[in-house]
Amino acid sequence: MPTARTVSPNRIAKRLAAIKPSPTVSLFGRVAQLRSEGRNIIGLVAGEPDFDTPDNIKQAAVDAIWQGKTKYTPVDGTAELKEAIKNKFKRENDLTYANDQIIVGVGGKHVIFNAFLATLSPGDEVIIPAPYWVSYPEMVTVCDGVPVIIPGRPEKGFKLDPADLDRAITPRTKWVILNSPSNPSGAAYTPDELRAVTEVLRKHPHIMVLADDIYEHLIYGDFKFTTPAQIEPELYDRTLTVNGVSKTYCMTGWRIGYAGGPRDVVKAMAAVQSHSTTNPASISQYAAVEALNGPQDFIKPNKDAFERRRDMVVKRLNAVEGIECQVPQGAFYVFPSCEGLIGKKRPDGQVIQSDEDFVLYLLEEAGLGVVFGSAFGMSPYFRVSYAASDEVLKDACDRIADAASRLR
Ligand code: GLU
Repeated sequence: MPTARTVSPNRIAKRLAAIKPSPTVSLFGRVAQLRSEGRNIIGLVAGEPDFDTPDNIKQAAVDAIWQGKTKYTPVDGTAELKEAIKNKFKRENDLTYANDQIIVGVGGKHVIFNAFLATLSPGDEVIIPAPYWVSYPEMVTVCDGVPVIIPGRPEKGFKLDPADLDRAITPRTKWVILNSPSNPSGAAYTPDELRAVTEVLRKHPHIMVLADDIYEHLIYGDFKFTTPAQIEPELYDRTLTVNGVSKTYCMTGWRIGYAGGPRDVVKAMAAVQSHSTTNPASISQYAAVEALNGPQDFIKPNKDAFERRRDMVVKRLNAVEGIECQVPQGAFYVFPSCEGLIGKKRPDGQVIQSDEDFVLYLLEEAGLGVVFGSAFGMSPYFRVSYAASDEVLKDACDRIADAASRLR
């Protein structure tokens, strides 16, 4: 029997040295664990709609099972799903792709990971505007790339300033990630704001654009969603437009994401995928066909509910002394500042020194799970997902107000 001393200390790859488990996924697990221990915990951690997957989509999956569509499919997606995705891109984004420009993966996360695995060589830089989704820099690092973070400007709604982008570009820049509406800030670019960014990118033909459009349909008021390859056709040949069914169709667990983009990149991504997952689950793919081709009328009421919740949460958070919250245009997150609470003492005497301390305090003392801003590359903020019922959100805001009022 080998003893602990005989185990090599170098078993884990060097490129993983700086990688931590996803804070969103781990906190989600922590909330579930505390609940299973009988604690009264509200979890506003995970970015997933609280609405159920529509029945017609579930039925399509059931039908697929009974029709025996339970075998391997082509690595990059079934013919039916690729057709549905091409039609979606044409209908909603005015983007035309051929079959060999489309790839389906196991969620948007997998598609993005494959894109980096397929394209990054050691030292290639990827520009990531902060606050960013927790997994972007980690994926880049795992794939031997170098994340280059551009801090967003709170006074500009956290959006990327085109001049900041221009300054961050080097000959090693391989990709720029644009995520609108954004996780975690909910900020979305108007067509003019996006054009100002694509104008910079137009001048640098060696750069590819990864447009993460997963929150496309969760956009409020009369805000108009646009995507980089649509706004600037010159970028079409170097943009990977990533989307998925998780958020719009309440299908987070089904794990279907997809992308349209340049043939060589898509082909390389499919090669990577052929050696890892092969195809995404056949049954989920048939459900996704129904999601994209079937009735879209449930999206509007879901959106209206999210918009109402956003307004309620923003108003209640802004009423708390020490917290300031902007009104985001989309997604289902708010990203308030807790700057006014930093330096204050908890009832047990511990000092809140960071957003992470504040979030821990909320979890321990108020039974509320949210995510600290530093996980998204920006402090002192925290992310609240408002994909929960009005009652739960009211309770959560009361808990935040009460916890904040007990700080001295
Ligand atoms: N994208 C969602 C979030 O930010 C799901 C969890 C994850 O994959 O990070 O909460």
